[in-house]
Amino acid sequence: MLALMKSFCLSALLLLALTSGGARAVDRELLTQYSTIPALLAGLYDGEWSCAEVLARGDLGLGTFDQLDGEMIVLDGRCYRAQSDGNVVPVVSSEKTPFACVTFFDTDLAVSNLTAGSMAGLAAALDQQLPSANLVYALRLDGTFAYVKTRSVPRQTKPFRLLTEIVKTQPTFEWKNVRGTLLGFRFPIFAKELNVAGWHLHFITADRQHGGHVLDVRMTHQTALLDLTPALQQNLSTNAAFLKLDLGGDSTEAVRKVEK
Ligand code: ZN
Repeated sequence: MLALMKSFCLSALLLLALTSGGARAVDRELLTQYSTIPALLAGLYDGEWSCAEVLARGDLGLGTFDQLDGEMIVLDGRCYRAQSDGNVVPVVSSEKTPFACVTFFDTDLAVSNLTAGSMAGLAAALDQQLPSANLVYALRLDGTFAYVKTRSVPRQTKPFRLLTEIVKTQPTFEWKNVRGTLLGFRFPIFAKELNVAGWHLHFITADRQHGGHVLDVRMTHQTALLDLTPALQQNLSTNAAFLKLDLGGDSTEAVRKVEK
């Protein structure tokens, strides 16, 4: 079993590929990303890709919407918006996104008996069980949570404020003893100028009525399912705003401010 896992990981590393744009057939081991986190941090909130396109590339994912109108949750092939009032609504496929990442979720690894007193604790507990810190992982955790704290973001109007400013007054929501699903991704540290390095999770309640971007979580004896995702397709914007953007800086501190 261990040898099997090792050979899988080796082939996964060999397969690691970074591509740009272009259509390709559905690949269940591929994570498709639209735009980058630093571009979003720079205030590029104009939707460019439709939810229909995102859903063609995966059944689990996250992101945001045109004009930063809430947190995107893709689960079981459906796209939802966690609004800035904490309520979740289904999204029509013509709606556009300035940033999203999505994959077809297949379980490669289950991490059972997860107990965590915080988001940082959950991240550390998950990290201990990974075969490598250098791959991308998708996560799905259906369970009952002692506590979940989320946030969402309100729709913006031009001129757009920076996300680091918007989150200073972000609405947050708390649930206790709540059933639902945590979902999201873990990117390696070397991918930090493309996406959030480490775990980035969104939450949706079992009745699909509430949710958002996860700020904190507490749980006992839950099981997370992980999908090792050995290939990335990075789609870059062709908007004039992106083309002239200076992305030569280090986004680590800004990402910390907007994600935690
Ligand atoms: Zn988020």
